[in-house]
Amino acid sequence: MRAFTYERPVDTAAALQAIGKPGAKFLAGGTNLLDLMKVEAEVPQHLVDVSRLPLLDITEENGGLRIGAMVTNSDLAAHAAVRERYPMLSRALLNGASGQLRNQATAGGNLLQRTRCYYFYDPSMPCNKRAPGSGCSALHGFNRIHAILGASETCIAVHPSDMAVALAALDAEVEVQSATGRRRIKLTEFHRLPESTPQRDTVLENGELITAVILPAPPAGGQVYRKVRDRASYDFALVSVAALIDIDGGRIRSARIALGGVAHKPWRAAEAERQLAGATLSDDTLAAAGEAAVRGAQGRGHNDFKIQLAARTVARALADAAQQRKA
Ligand SMILES: Cc1cc2nc3c(=O)[nH]c(=O)nc-3n(C[C@H](O)[C@H](O)[C@H](O)COP(=O)(O)OP(=O)(O)OC[C@H]3O[C@@H](n4cnc5c(N)ncnc54)[C@H](O)[C@@H]3O)c2cc1C
Ligand code: SF4
Repeated sequence: MRAFTYERPVDTAAALQAIGKPGAKFLAGGTNLLDLMKVEAEVPQHLVDVSRLPLLDITEENGGLRIGAMVTNSDLAAHAAVRERYPMLSRALLNGASGQLRNQATAGGNLLQRTRCYYFYDPSMPCNKRAPGSGCSALHGFNRIHAILGASETCIAVHPSDMAVALAALDAEVEVQSATGRRRIKLTEFHRLPESTPQRDTVLENGELITAVILPAPPAGGQVYRKVRDRASYDFALVSVAALIDIDGGRIRSARIALGGVAHKPWRAAEAERQLAGATLSDDTLAAAGEAAVRGAQGRGHNDFKIQLAARTVARALADAAQQRKA
């Protein structure tokens, strides 16, 4: 690990000033950043520890919730309003990492955790995300965990957060603050596709601090988070699905579907959602939605299985959400 300096401001203004120092980076729970520093995939010169900032509250806002960026994954999953009104978010969080990690990991850090692509963590291998222009070892390498949607020839990595997938389905927003002001970014527009600049995971600008995640009022209908992984105890998603479905009798009023483990960002399946709106609820309808969700998907060899897995997981998650609604 390279040498670095460290400070721990106690208010947001001081943190925003400190991040202006050369090579500065925010540190929250440290569960991802410190691992990356050990393999020198990240080499900050200065760490600005934001864990003491007053961003620890979950409060009501316009019928929804405002979640401070420093709220831990454990506290968010266990919060009564989240469990009751946004159960898919609670499930997504509890499906992520281990108990110890969730106690340390924060909402802001979770959104900004970096890909688990093996080559990104291996400094001896070319990787355009870690070293732009060096090449992508996964493209023709072992790519079992990689993207089937929205990838480019420069990077086929997937975004690893479970929480972000549920937030995408819930139409959440991310509030960020910099020395020059504050703005809100839709979660679905916060992470970006790799295109020719895979080193950029999000639209966040240098010096911007995530201060909160904003949840709108809970949507009507049943909600489910379903995660498929190699190891049930804890592991990243091969494919995950956050599904919401609102039913009136046998007719689907509306549906929302977000997928994880398939793309460089949480992937909203807009075409499948359109197809479901107004359709009659049946196994065939849900299977067709699953197929629509992966239309245009491209396997890279080792990850070809993900296409069918994603289609089936979408159909299954929708069926579970519909069942929950009837119960
Ligand atoms: C073994 C293991 C298994 C895991 N399994 C899963 C899993 O199954 N699902 C899952 O979703 N996650 C999983 N994780 C990832 C874990 O959830 C993340 O490491 C964690 O959420 C990151 O949060 P943190 O607060 O520790 O962030 P940090 O490591 O402190 O920071 C991560 C990044 O966010 C930036 N940052 C942090 N806070 C802010 C802020 N407020 N504003 C701006 N920038 C900020 C930092 O600069 C850094 O770049 C796993 C991790 C490990 C080690
Ligand atoms: S998929 Fe992306 S992160 Fe992985 S080796 Fe290729 S460029 Fe690097």
